[in-house]
Amino acid sequence: MTQVLIVGAGVVGAAIAYELSLIPGFEVILCDRDRPAAGSTGAALGVLMAAISQKKAKSRAWKLRQQSWQRYATLIPELEAKLGRDLPRNDAGILKLCSMEENWQKWQGLAAIRQQQGFPLELWSVDQIQRRFPQLGVETISGAVFSGCDRQIQPRPLTEALVEAAQLNGVVLCWETEIVEVDSGPADLSTAEIRRCQRVTTQSGEVYEPDWLVLAAGLGTTPLSQQLQAAIAIEPVLGQALRYRVPGGFPQNCPVVTGGDVHVVPLTNDECWVGATVEFPDSTGTVTADESHLEAVQEAAIALYPPLAEAEVIEHWSGLRPRPDGRSAPVIDRLENYENVLLATGHYRNGVLLAPATAMAVQRLIH
Ligand SMILES: Cc1cc2nc3c(=O)[nH]c(=O)nc-3n(C[C@H](O)[C@H](O)[C@H](O)COP(=O)(O)OP(=O)(O)OC[C@H]3O[C@@H](n4cnc5c(N)ncnc54)[C@H](O)[C@@H]3O)c2cc1C
Repeated sequence: MTQVLIVGAGVVGAAIAYELSLIPGFEVILCDRDRPAAGSTGAALGVLMAAISQKKAKSRAWKLRQQSWQRYATLIPELEAKLGRDLPRNDAGILKLCSMEENWQKWQGLAAIRQQQGFPLELWSVDQIQRRFPQLGVETISGAVFSGCDRQIQPRPLTEALVEAAQLNGVVLCWETEIVEVDSGPADLSTAEIRRCQRVTTQSGEVYEPDWLVLAAGLGTTPLSQQLQAAIAIEPVLGQALRYRVPGGFPQNCPVVTGGDVHVVPLTNDECWVGATVEFPDSTGTVTADESHLEAVQEAAIALYPPLAEAEVIEHWSGLRPRPDGRSAPVIDRLENYENVLLATGHYRNGVLLAPATAMAVQRLIH
């Protein structure tokens, strides 16, 4: 058996554990210093913007989105059948309201490409929007792009389902287990020589000697990679979000409504999530929630969906997105100079979207 130790049970680590659990020959251990979805994942809105993203057809960013989209189509029914419960999500699509300055030629071009790829996008006039969803705010928009094939899924129940299904397939789960030491191989190796991480130690002194170490630790990746003398800088980008109860509720089959980087995510007949702010750290690397950013998000959300002006805020939270510094997100690769350490981290704003594609990439790197 090949032993794989995965550090971090956010959506990324959980997806990797589940994907590896489907292949015979692996003994998989998934550990987290807390509980599943305790990091960025627990704060996320779960909006999966694949077809509607302006990513070029041959780019890595699009390929990852396409792979994730395809895997989600099988993964969700697979998990639901295995666990006998529904995964809460919004399958009504994503509707992007576009400003007066929108470049419609760009969207027409993208719609033609997506049509060929099998991901149809519809371009709606303001009249069409009003006919379909009269509750939406159309005063300052020039039209909308509707993607019926994109969707949203609630990240916490998804992660818990991945973990539970992985466990049923034999994955060993270790919660409240922090990895505090990773060994970087013999001290006398030159920097150019290929290394092997041989020992991994937890806060309680337990030692693992895995064949593969997968760092899916989000922001926790930086200190571990520093110990391996191959520091991967991941910075925290704060996001605040809100849950509203909306009097009068939402129309049936209301898609996720998005515009200007703000999402209104209908969850139930009369509740939605709204978010999120994007707040960068200061020069010392710290970031604290700023109320003015949240107010700007609330204003933008009311412009998208005016009934929110009368709605009650029933929850407010924030989370830290893991953003790679100086390289593009996400980081899915072998750690430089190591033959048995993999990075699956730095997913920044799209970790829920890209978790299935990441898991498949890790599987290919190991298998
Ligand atoms: C407000 C907000 C909204 C968002 N909305 C979306 C969205 O709509 N769509 C989308 O795709 N993405 C969204 N994101 C981004 C998404 O949350 C992240 O990209 C994703 O959760 C990253 O997942 P992860 O598993 O890599 O990291 P995390 O969820 O942070 O998981 C890392 C885990 O590693 C554990 N860990 C760290 N160090 C150690 C250690 N030494 N030992 C053991 N365990 C360790 C932590 O406890 C944590 O559980 C949003 C983020 C925020 C904050």
